[in-house]
Amino acid sequence: MLFDTSKANIEELHNDLFTEKQVSVSVLRLDKIHPVVSGNKLFKLHYFLEEAINSKLKTILTFGGAYSNHLSATAYACKLLQLKSIGIVRGEKPEQLSHTLQQCLQDGMQLQFISRQQFAQKDDPVFINNLKAAYGECMIIPEGGYHPLGAKGAALIMDLVKDNNYTHICTATGTATTLAGILMEAKAAQTVVSFPVLKGIADNKNSIKQLTGKEGEFENLLVLNNYHFGGYAKKTNLLIQFMNQCWQQYQLPLDFVYTAKMLFGTIDAVKNDTFTKGSKILCLHTGGLQGNKSLPLNSLLF
Ligand SMILES: *Cc1c(COP(=O)(O)O)cnc(C)c1O
Repeated sequence: MLFDTSKANIEELHNDLFTEKQVSVSVLRLDKIHPVVSGNKLFKLHYFLEEAINSKLKTILTFGGAYSNHLSATAYACKLLQLKSIGIVRGEKPEQLSHTLQQCLQDGMQLQFISRQQFAQKDDPVFINNLKAAYGECMIIPEGGYHPLGAKGAALIMDLVKDNNYTHICTATGTATTLAGILMEAKAAQTVVSFPVLKGIADNKNSIKQLTGKEGEFENLLVLNNYHFGGYAKKTNLLIQFMNQCWQQYQLPLDFVYTAKMLFGTIDAVKNDTFTKGSKILCLHTGGLQGNKSLPLNSLLF
């Protein structure tokens, strides 16, 4: 790895429900890698950064919204590796920059705001060529690291699981890049459980095919679609209460966009016997805690 991941550990959660159902639930704490920039995003960047360094490209250019964990991870990674970073941000420049974008600026990222219409064309070859003309030769990383290289990097997450005797691996799903990486590394006997955080994603099969290059389907994939809480970055009081409860009970900080929904779903699935007796469940804490700064003050106990 290009980064120090030694602070990431696995913690088991204990409660009466898990005892009663005879399952174990543990969390891989990728959020501990760095206080602000943490989680799956650094892994998804790994091979892009390595290629940039090897090919002597000194600049990384990528895309995201005003609260993007991906932009903040890219800015931080580039700072550490002494690469120049450019963030193309969706939407007009607001009067007050989000805390995420302020952090990006502090980490030396150059920001360019473009309209939502323009942003929608960001994968168009003409648009990409214009960017290259404007910024010079650079390594362009798709939004969210959505690319086979991103999935390959996400697969490195499993290197941190030394005794991999889990029956299930649970992860929150946005672009499905992380999911694809975990599926590539998971053992045939392990079920990978995906919790989509977007509403109405019927299936990720096409994305997974593109990201992994595998033609057939992964038979060990289980998608639990009912835990998006209204859609991307939507939240309810119940979700916020759940986050506070996890903090009080397990000293586990969760983010409201991804990991809270995943863990809520995991516990609910234990309740309704989706996991059979004896299941050994590993939940990936994919980080993203910086996003909680967009919540109203005093919503959270941590
Ligand atoms: C981006 C993100 C995810 C989703 O990852 P994908 O690879 O886009 O599916 C999950 N958790 C956190 C905290 C994230 O920031």
